[in-house]
Amino acid sequence: MKERVSRLISSFGELGIDALLVTKPQNVRYVTGFSGSTGACLVRKDGSGVFVTDPRYDVQAAEEVEGFQVVVTRDPALKEAGKRAADEGIGSLGIEGAHMTVLARKELAEVAPDARMVETDRVIEHVRSIKEESEIDLIRQAASIADAALEAVLPVIAEGVAELDIAIELEYQMRKLGGEKVGFDTIVASGPRAAMAHGVAGRRRLQPGDPVVMDFGCFYGGYTSDMTRTVFVGTPSPEMRRVYEVVLRAQTAACETLKAGMTGKEADAVARSIIEEAGYGDRFGHGLGHGVGLEVHEYPLVSSRNERPMHASSVVSVEPGIYLPGLGGVRIEDLVVIRPGGIENLTSSSKELICL
Ligand code: ZN
Ligand code: ZN
Repeated sequence: MKERVSRLISSFGELGIDALLVTKPQNVRYVTGFSGSTGACLVRKDGSGVFVTDPRYDVQAAEEVEGFQVVVTRDPALKEAGKRAADEGIGSLGIEGAHMTVLARKELAEVAPDARMVETDRVIEHVRSIKEESEIDLIRQAASIADAALEAVLPVIAEGVAELDIAIELEYQMRKLGGEKVGFDTIVASGPRAAMAHGVAGRRRLQPGDPVVMDFGCFYGGYTSDMTRTVFVGTPSPEMRRVYEVVLRAQTAACETLKAGMTGKEADAVARSIIEEAGYGDRFGHGLGHGVGLEVHEYPLVSSRNERPMHASSVVSVEPGIYLPGLGGVRIEDLVVIRPGGIENLTSSSKELICL
């Protein structure tokens, strides 16, 4: 935690803040170690801080919180932390602009009327984008649970089986194999529904020739995994087979090229140019990937919107896709660690065309 906090406070000068009030649960967890749902912490510019929670969490906070003074009170955590900032005479108080509600801000202003509120923009999220090896270990474990779940579920996939049944089976296997909870709503989109990049599993039953896009992951140690495989029921149409081959080529090329120092835009372009050359450029409507960690979507963005170099030890997805309305779609997604000379792929499931 110490190193995280020192990385965090190194930006306080530039932000012009004397302390940062942290309220987003994943960020509270990141800086304090507290994994419960209710709590707030005040990080001072000297790296010291106070963590506030309510009596339901007194035992848990004592066990988990590292490097922060723990305060347990029945008052709302935000109010208590704000009061402390006011008592300490903190002049410039950073708040999490992307998380704090308008109402919470109003309540904070009532208890700390003299503090100047500074809206910060995801400052902890940026620190989180570069992982420690201990965090990568947890994500690696979450990824291998998802791999094992897919292996267990492949035999279930057949004509007549509903998308929901596959999703439930994936989720059951992930939990059984040690996953804490699902990483996000499991996507199982089959046949024409596979043209929806984010088609959450429904009641549709699989038919011969269907592509089946499965996008899923689970939490382990507070960190999530994220992977996608597309398989076929019986024999795919010639066009879907070609689409699969193009997506696989784009995904493989991106994995082979990605390394520290590349911008998100450059990495995205590696996959996108292959899909464009194949004539499907306008059917790849999302970015190549995104950071993954305490949340399923975090920094860095691996897309044309990110023109900054990506750092070693970031964990990102590599997930090109092609979606053809009325026909179906294909996406292949691996979770990888960006390393100085390339990537470490955390997803080990086969990417060869699978027909079941
Ligand atoms: Zn995914
Ligand atoms: Zn993803």
